[in-house]
Amino acid sequence: MDRTRITVEAKLLELASNHRWTWHAPTAELLASLPGAAADRHPVATVAGLEDGDWKSLLPDDALLDRIDAEHDELTALLESKPERPEIAYVSAEFGISELVPQYSGGLGILAGDHLKASSDLNLPLVGVGLFYREGFFHQEIQGVKQTERYERCDPELLGFVDTGAMVAVDVGKESVEAKVWKLAVGRVDLYALDTDVATNSADARAITDRLYSGDEEHRIQQELILGIGGLRALRAVGLDPAVVHLNEGHAGFLLLEKIQTELAAGADFDRAVELTKDGSVFTTHTPVPAGIDRFEPPLVETYLGQWAETNDVPLETLFELATSPDDEGEPKPFNMAVFCLNLTGAANGVSQLHGEVSRRLFASVPAGASIGAVTNGVHARTWVDPELAEVFTATLGDGWEAGDPDAWSRVRDLDDQVIKRLRTAGRQRLIDLIGRSGIDGTNLDPDALTIGFARRFATYKRADLLLTEPARLAKLLADDSRPIQFVFAGKAHPADKPGKQLMSKIVAFSRSAESNGRFVFIPDYEMGIARAMYAGCDVWLNNPIRPREASGTSGEKAALNGGLQCSILDGWWDEMYDGDNGWAIATSSSDSPAVRDKFEAASIYRLLEKEILPLFYSGAGRPTERWLDKVKHNWITLGPKVTATRMVADYRDQLYGPAMERVRVARSGSGGSR
Ligand SMILES: *Cc1c(COP(=O)(O)O)cnc(C)c1O
Repeated sequence: MDRTRITVEAKLLELASNHRWTWHAPTAELLASLPGAAADRHPVATVAGLEDGDWKSLLPDDALLDRIDAEHDELTALLESKPERPEIAYVSAEFGISELVPQYSGGLGILAGDHLKASSDLNLPLVGVGLFYREGFFHQEIQGVKQTERYERCDPELLGFVDTGAMVAVDVGKESVEAKVWKLAVGRVDLYALDTDVATNSADARAITDRLYSGDEEHRIQQELILGIGGLRALRAVGLDPAVVHLNEGHAGFLLLEKIQTELAAGADFDRAVELTKDGSVFTTHTPVPAGIDRFEPPLVETYLGQWAETNDVPLETLFELATSPDDEGEPKPFNMAVFCLNLTGAANGVSQLHGEVSRRLFASVPAGASIGAVTNGVHARTWVDPELAEVFTATLGDGWEAGDPDAWSRVRDLDDQVIKRLRTAGRQRLIDLIGRSGIDGTNLDPDALTIGFARRFATYKRADLLLTEPARLAKLLADDSRPIQFVFAGKAHPADKPGKQLMSKIVAFSRSAESNGRFVFIPDYEMGIARAMYAGCDVWLNNPIRPREASGTSGEKAALNGGLQCSILDGWWDEMYDGDNGWAIATSSSDSPAVRDKFEAASIYRLLEKEILPLFYSGAGRPTERWLDKVKHNWITLGPKVTATRMVADYRDQLYGPAMERVRVARSGSGGSR
């Protein structure tokens, strides 16, 4: 075996730049053992930073070189089985692959990352398409009790992105903007990301892909033009032409214009081009809240789509007809991206059964609205389950657990209670250690105490402050030394979301108050790494959105896989998976008054904590008790088969991608093979 520095370095770089290490523990451990490795440093940067002195100690280490060879051989074998031609393009404004690739803001992006990972596991012929944001999403800092935002410039090549050499040009208003195409490997799936920060662009054009969800409506329409129109062009520039596109939320909708343009250029008339575009596309909507939908004011659309309309000889009014909803306010009505996507895709879905229902109602005035289906979100088990617990699962349940095989999960009763207890305690301790490292006083936290987690974006509908509506009741719980309870909160508020920021400040202020008794903490700068520590360290996962505004929610699914029990409003995924015994349902009020509703629902949480959760957790000797563990096991048996991203992507494959490919096949054979 050739073991020169050059070959070993090349192997390490390949292992570090293929993000399979985010779910393949042996590779992650190998990379973490290299000199200079750190939790906040991408392994590509670690490998690139190895110096002569490091190599002097690495190259004679045969055991290490054997491990590198073995991991590299395994990755190579995996990549050899990769499908030759991707058939599906999954397009999203954000992807959460790892906290070390800061190209996501929250649930939507992490879902997209998990989708790619599960597609790799299932060996689906799928590629991802997104943007590369030079400054990613912001880092949250707390000054006083206020959130401030700090952006860090990132170098794509030190985050594992590889230059494809391809460039595409997109008309953005009057300007032709060039975008560079990067590629990020995620197991057997490639993610292509467009970046307008290239020297030949104007300063304004270079700034289009500067940051995720920052800036105004104009900045957003510019980003979406690059993502949509540029996205399909990027795939073609690297020699791919997937038959089916999957738009993850309306941000990607302009891709449909590029599809239409392609069909027009191939000789179809407009109606036929629309039909062909529909055949090969699917759309997933993610918000049940009308205000959450992407809309653009007509003058802005005229500025940015006028050129497209002229070039393709399609009246702008036609595009507006496809994108307006009678339900929207304003005259003329805004360009509604969700409506545009619904009108131009062959199938659409919401992200939980309840959200499907709500979406059918929300889009009742759009013809395609009535047929919106549902694929409930899932999470990538290997990414989210604590590696030690994952090993225990594999040893006792067999390999099928991570794909959600019910047979595997049915063996949960065979798990060793003592091992599970030890892992849960270790998880709490690691979370407490992390809290200490964040500079927060965690001295009154206890690795044996009932630990409640709440972490997600500080969007107001998620009501992070619901518990604070009864401060005296909360203080009493926090003061109880006989049955200690501790709360861990985390989350960022969107920089422009003032009410969301106020919520966050309230939580931070309470965490520092005397009433918190050092048992209510807020961890700043929430990201995937903190999330993992919380799932493994929390006994109960609290989720109290205003029903039915949480389209799915996924953090609870990640907590559930790690053995955390839900205490949640019956919304999103929990509405369909709660069975009366695998966690707790917070009662929902039907009052029209927000104050009455919040009071009622907060009281329900307190009742559950006081009468059910605390008594069960402390129901006898041992922490937690056998009865608590029984509930945790029931949680695993009932939810394990349902909450994985493998189940989710298999549903997409069977219910949406398969039929779309069939539509495309029929359309192509129908047109006499002229295309
Ligand atoms: C899972 C996850 C989310 C999504 O949480 P929801 O429960 O869907 O709101 C947000 N941020 C991070 C870092 C996550 O891991």
